[in-house]
Amino acid sequence: MARSYVREARRRVGPKRERVGPIIERLAAEHADAAIALRFRSDLELLVSVMLSAQTTDVNVNRVTQELFRKYRCPEDYLAVPQEELERDIYRTGFFRQKAKALRGTMTLLLEEYDGRVPSRLEELVRLPGVARKTANVVAAELGDPQGIVVDTHVRRLSQRLGLTRQDDPVKIERDLQRLVPRADWGRFPHLLIWHGRRVCIARTPRCAECVVNDLCPSSRI
Ligand code: SF4
Repeated sequence: MARSYVREARRRVGPKRERVGPIIERLAAEHADAAIALRFRSDLELLVSVMLSAQTTDVNVNRVTQELFRKYRCPEDYLAVPQEELERDIYRTGFFRQKAKALRGTMTLLLEEYDGRVPSRLEELVRLPGVARKTANVVAAELGDPQGIVVDTHVRRLSQRLGLTRQDDPVKIERDLQRLVPRADWGRFPHLLIWHGRRVCIARTPRCAECVVNDLCPSSRI
């Protein structure tokens, strides 16, 4: 019964290849301000902010980095203080021990292999300690060279609800999205889903009646 309802809903909205273009266009018009919420002024600040944002909110990270970036201006600064001091300085982002360790490991590698600069290739970024694929994807996209599609909790939920993937694993979802989303949109696509997920397609109670893509969504409740 439930399965036939899902099949019927999928038939009603049509193939995902035909829906993805209009979905992107409408969400882009609706969330013209969709962009990364982290605040940074350099590639290094971007990398550090994204690393600190694991398991916490962007608002919280911005609060911490406002002070942090006054004190730590280059990779050497993160290595010039005892680890405990760095832990104290990032304490409020949570998981401060692992994050401090990852930051110091990353700064060491940046200095040893990249002349202190942040690389933009995904395969180089994922070599940095504490930088997983999602972090690397966010950094590469913000550096203007997206090589994958960021899949966070919002992107995962919305891709599933919109019938763009049937997968649950972020790596497989990303693969599905890469086949579907035009390359030129890889950078902005996650931002659009993230902002739509925060404002409209909320986890517990999606506001389908107010949603600009409800006629293209097999999970619409209206
Ligand atoms: S129609 Fe509902 S479930 Fe589908 S994307 Fe919009 S808010 Fe989410």
